[in-house]
Amino acid sequence: VILLKLDPADRTPMFRQIVEQVRGLIDRESLRPGQAMPATRRLAEDLGVHRTTVYKAYEELWALGYLESTPGSYTRVRWRPRPEAATERQNRPAPAWGELSSPASRNVHGLFQRYRPESSPGRPADIIDLSRLDMDPRLFPAEQFRRCLNKAMRRWGPELLGYGERQGFRPLREYLAQRLQMHGIAAGPEEILITNGSQNALDLVFRLLVAPGRRVLVESPTYAAMIPLLRLHQAEITGIPMTGEGLDLQALERELRQGEGTFLYTMPNFQNPTGITTGQAHREALLRVCERFSLTIVEDGFEEEMKYCGKVTLPIKSMDCHQQVIYLGTFSKVLFPGVRIGWIVAHRDCIERLLGIKRFCDLTTTPVLQAAMYEFCREGYYDWHIRRMHRTYRKRLQTTLRAMRQHLPRERADWTEPVGGYLLWVRLRDPELTAEAFQERLARCGVVVSPGEYYFPDRSQAIHFRISISMLDEAQIEEGIRRLGRALQDSGGPGGGER
Ligand code: PMP
Repeated sequence: VILLKLDPADRTPMFRQIVEQVRGLIDRESLRPGQAMPATRRLAEDLGVHRTTVYKAYEELWALGYLESTPGSYTRVRWRPRPEAATERQNRPAPAWGELSSPASRNVHGLFQRYRPESSPGRPADIIDLSRLDMDPRLFPAEQFRRCLNKAMRRWGPELLGYGERQGFRPLREYLAQRLQMHGIAAGPEEILITNGSQNALDLVFRLLVAPGRRVLVESPTYAAMIPLLRLHQAEITGIPMTGEGLDLQALERELRQGEGTFLYTMPNFQNPTGITTGQAHREALLRVCERFSLTIVEDGFEEEMKYCGKVTLPIKSMDCHQQVIYLGTFSKVLFPGVRIGWIVAHRDCIERLLGIKRFCDLTTTPVLQAAMYEFCREGYYDWHIRRMHRTYRKRLQTTLRAMRQHLPRERADWTEPVGGYLLWVRLRDPELTAEAFQERLARCGVVVSPGEYYFPDRSQAIHFRISISMLDEAQIEEGIRRLGRALQDSGGPGGGER
């Protein structure tokens, strides 16, 4: 006999009430595996319902894996694995995922583990974090974007809930084509592919061009997340040193004379991590070298709109007569990264091939968000937001530079002075100071920076670190730099640093 209590006043159908109650009894082990269930006729009589109601409930429970029935026998409770607590699951024997993983992904896993110390839990709350190149949520135009989401759904509704156009929402591509013109880039919507942020764009480009052992040239230091991604694609990475004016062109030529490269990855604006922006002459000379060696350029214009001091320099792509530049853009570093919208601009054949790869990797980029972003831009909110970001960060950068001059001893450190973006690159001049000792001092002083070693494809000699001002207001920046100054002056002895 099993005890069920049906409630006729409940709007839940009778059969569903039976299902839920029997499930509960099995989950709580009041009914045990192998135990026979009452015959449908009997249970129907006991409960005062029609036999088909019980029959339907048993069928549903069978479909859910709670019951089993063999012809000519009782329906019985089926053995099923008991839901386990997380710790129990963790302690059970499991496949050796490390061994099952490909060597390339094992390598990336190792880098990933090394790459996350800044976000370690248990960090004091009053710490000032100068390490993260995340956007400041206090500046997100969330309400405007919400209105644009509504508007897009009202306007296109069902169309946005399908996979959408493979190459990306057409009106957004048309808008981007127009906007690119402002940066001197002539490209029609057919030469643009919308991606899930520029990180997805990088992955697609690597899938297109990299094969195990192919040589890829990067600036040294370079964008940290590029290095594991290239390793995952089993590229051979060659770092070309950065000078104060950008990539060392002579070193690039020397490398290319020694052996060909698949492509060069470069960030001409506010380079991550150094913050360096190259001039027009450097961009032209770089393009000439690459033309001479038929080297493809992957130009990462991740902060194209964030030039807020001085004159704008046009992207390398604007001078690309031979269609050898693949240009990447994103909304992440001026607006917000959460919508994950980026784009690739390249020769049509190249776009077509990238589209073929995207078609099988992630199908499309979310149409709803692309349409909302299009509305956002069309309404003029994007231009408005860029102006606001320029005003805000011009002040934040001025505060940063002023604080650095005031608090950081010049004999112990020098740093880049960017003309936009969020990043500064600091080199320590103390030959005695090891990276570990410096990290300890920083922790004592309550400030976090991003260690320079992340950004070099091979290990760096001198001690560098990256500062990002993207997340902090002027007061936080001022305090962060003051603490940094203390860490630099800290003798390292007991009581040497105060909070
Ligand atoms: N390129 C550079 C240089 C970056 O710093 C980042 C993000 N930190 C990206 C690309 C990727 O950005 P997203 O995928 O959000 O567009």
